[in-house]
Amino acid sequence: MEGRFHATIHSPVQLTELEKRVAQDIQSRAHDLLEDLRLHVSIPTGGNNQAAIEETRERFGIRLQELGANSHMIPGDPKPDWLLGGQANHYTPPTVVCERLNGATQGRVMIAGHLDTVHDPNGDFLDLSIAPGGKTAIGPGCVDMKGGLVIAVAALEALEACGVPANWTFTMNADEETGTYHSERALRDESQKHDFGIALEPALPGGELAIERVGSGQFMIETQGKSAHVGRAFTEGVSAVVALADCISRSARFPDPQRGKILSIGPIKGGVATNAVPDSAYAWGNVRFADESIADELSVELDALQTAEDAMPRVIVRRSFNRPAKPLIPETEALALRAREVAESLGQKLPFKSTGGVCDGNIMQDAGLPTIDTLGVRGGGLHTKDEWIDLTSLVERCQLLAILIARLSAGGSAAL
Ligand SMILES: [Zn+2]
Repeated sequence: MEGRFHATIHSPVQLTELEKRVAQDIQSRAHDLLEDLRLHVSIPTGGNNQAAIEETRERFGIRLQELGANSHMIPGDPKPDWLLGGQANHYTPPTVVCERLNGATQGRVMIAGHLDTVHDPNGDFLDLSIAPGGKTAIGPGCVDMKGGLVIAVAALEALEACGVPANWTFTMNADEETGTYHSERALRDESQKHDFGIALEPALPGGELAIERVGSGQFMIETQGKSAHVGRAFTEGVSAVVALADCISRSARFPDPQRGKILSIGPIKGGVATNAVPDSAYAWGNVRFADESIADELSVELDALQTAEDAMPRVIVRRSFNRPAKPLIPETEALALRAREVAESLGQKLPFKSTGGVCDGNIMQDAGLPTIDTLGVRGGGLHTKDEWIDLTSLVERCQLLAILIARLSAGGSAAL
């Protein structure tokens, strides 16, 4: 795939004197960046942990307000209760919008970050621990995406300290890892008020910028049968588990990975005892799709598993394909090339790549905002207890972000 994303062949655009000052200012913040990362990694925002989410939001929010941002909260929307884990707890986190737009109707940059992580706030993976030699560290959320949040706030502070005008809004939600159901409307609304989107997800493993992504969705198949005693009245029973198994084997034929059409089922649940014919069963699953026509195919196929209301057994399908595919559009390619131009000015490399992952960038671009979404830090082991960060990327990616935001703010459309 990479061959499609042509490399720039011109010599790098030189940094201006002001941009050099910004880069130096950020270099001088290296120690602060690391300490800020250490602090934020130790505030456990996984598991929809309200106190930690609020503390993190407040700490970053205050610093953005000190830069002159107005901030307001957009309440979270409810989440469908059939989603796996959908009822795990009842905190519906809002999205905070910190806005420091300068009135210009071009060059408006929306920076999007998520406060949540996937890590258990009551587990044993709670702090940043720096490897001998100091080049890398591991910690919950260190790359996904505490590191991204830390460098973005520092980038805006450095621009301010150096007197560089910038035109930005910083949104922070807290449900990206669980599907962005609460904050989707807020992100869509904000996306429509800006010209360029930047999301702070970690770089891909080789430091690449993800410039196109598949879409994803969730679904649940519910089957209803008729309960009966296995020994006394087996023939009166209708097994919901058998009906579910049939649906699962039919849907196992839907995927066509070569075409970017993926469907996976699991977990499943059904029955309460071995001596009772089960009258209800459930399967949850996930789809990934390269484009909307494939999403439509999957929708039609899943819906066709459903039966009439009075059928026995009955099959009900619920689905939510809420992260549209993020194809490479010309506006996004132009934005990615501008990011690469900044990287090259700084003596860095910024290769491009496609990914099967999804993030809030999918929603932002679908709302009409050209978005590049892996401008956070470099590292790996996302969503595992081996999550690690390349600590040298704190300064490098902070410099990249700051100068990119400055150049984008200076005006012009995404089309070069
Ligand atoms: Zn993330």
